[in-house]
Amino acid sequence: MRITIDRDRCIGAGQCVLAAPAVFTQDDDGLVTLLPGHEDAAGDPGVRDVPMSCPVQAVALADD
Ligand code: SF4
Repeated sequence: MRITIDRDRCIGAGQCVLAAPAVFTQDDDGLVTLLPGHEDAAGDPGVRDVPMSCPVQAVALADD
């Protein structure tokens, strides 16, 4: 499962970090960043909820 993030859309709401703190973090400006090595996050159950919980649809998932 491949994660794509759109930092131009992100408003720093932090829902992605709450849902999957092992995968997402926020930079100094509060914008979403993937933690290193987590572009493929099939093993993290919290990731599936993130596209729905992000208020601006800045996170997308695609099956490989
Ligand atoms: S939930 Fe969406 S808006 Fe909030 S930090 Fe994550 S990507 Fe950005």
